Amino acid sequence: MATAAPEAKSGKVVIKNIGLMLSGDIDKPILDADTIVVVDGIITAVGKEKDCDTAYANAVVDVRQTCVCPGLIDSHVHPVFGDWTPRQNQLGWIESTMNGGVTTMISAGEVHLPGRPKDIVGLKALAITAQRAFDNFRPGGVKVLAGAPIIEKGMTENDFKELAESGVGLLGEVGLGSVKAGYEAQEMVAWARKYGIQSTIHTGGPSIPGSGLIDKDVVLEADADVIGHINGGHTSLPEAHVCELCEKSSRAIEIVHNGNEKIAIAAAQAALQLKCPHRIILGTDGPAGSGVQPLGMLRMVALLSSLGNIPAELVFCFATGNTARIRKLNCGLIEVGRAADFVFMDRAQHTAGRNLLESVQLGDIPGVGMVMIDGIVRCGRSRNTPPATEVPEVRWH
Ligand SMILES: [Zn+2]
Repeated sequence: MATAAPEAKSGKVVIKNIGLMLSGDIDKPILDADTIVVVDGIITAVGKEKDCDTAYANAVVDVRQTCVCPGLIDSHVHPVFGDWTPRQNQLGWIESTMNGGVTTMISAGEVHLPGRPKDIVGLKALAITAQRAFDNFRPGGVKVLAGAPIIEKGMTENDFKELAESGVGLLGEVGLGSVKAGYEAQEMVAWARKYGIQSTIHTGGPSIPGSGLIDKDVVLEADADVIGHINGGHTSLPEAHVCELCEKSSRAIEIVHNGNEKIAIAAAQAALQLKCPHRIILGTDGPAGSGVQPLGMLRMVALLSSLGNIPAELVFCFATGNTARIRKLNCGLIEVGRAADFVFMDRAQHTAGRNLLESVQLGDIPGVGMVMIDGIVRCGRSRNTPPATEVPEVRWH
């Protein structure tokens, strides 16, 4: 298993001859630049090659006129421990997803742990342990932000304070535990927010036998930071209710692969009509019942762009910069000071699209030619995507 220690340093890396630079910024999705300079994992320059200090690099990446995009951020996953999912009994699923262009994953709760504790001391201990474990161990280099407790009845304000002080920054999906009423969820979500813990809520029908419905009124009353899988995970609320959520709430609109695809498109279009495209973020909800989805994020981008008729360069922002801003992450955007987490892509071989963006708008997924996290190359040509027409070349000095 290829795993870099989180503290490994890239040195100086020059990425040049970029044909298309996707910024991740919904207000300016394409940058007029062909070069990125990275020092020890952080972007230090973005621009034209002649204007950048490219001397004395440890590595030079010739992108060969293909595309560089911020690494994709999966806003909704359910990790357990290490690179193993007991839900589908698979090893290596996170590293495999990195081959699909994902460089950061955000836990919506470690709910697949066999025998998961539901008592308050136990659920807090699990959250702290998961946060620490993934902070210390990055499968394939992927940044897994984990330690997302499922709230249960009986928790007090002090529990949230203690979690925050222990390094927990996320709540797992509200509604997966015993707290299912809107008023109860609202109180705990507010406590979490007071101590800097971000919250997400399960939206829609039950995901597996034993879980329950969370309807639009509960979502609105709970007022979590993220309307988790607004298109259901798996079962969606009626389309009119989803549109009402987009309109009446100002929180993030999360659309997942593991949900209703028709409503995924409806939710994205509703957000665009409401002139709030910056609220749309994407996830997979893997590995849930639909399984491990190494290309789930790229498939969501192709789905929304092709059937949703949304320009591909905007949809890539839903999977990168929007999520980074809403989740307050130092990645997801190509700008000075951000983490050098990138996915290098080109049109897949033999797609009908004449270039990368057109191929995505036609519904094809791109070929990944390389993935970089913190300035370090994590994979070359992806073993999962269709082959990219051209792939970057790396020269070491
Ligand atoms: Zn859910």
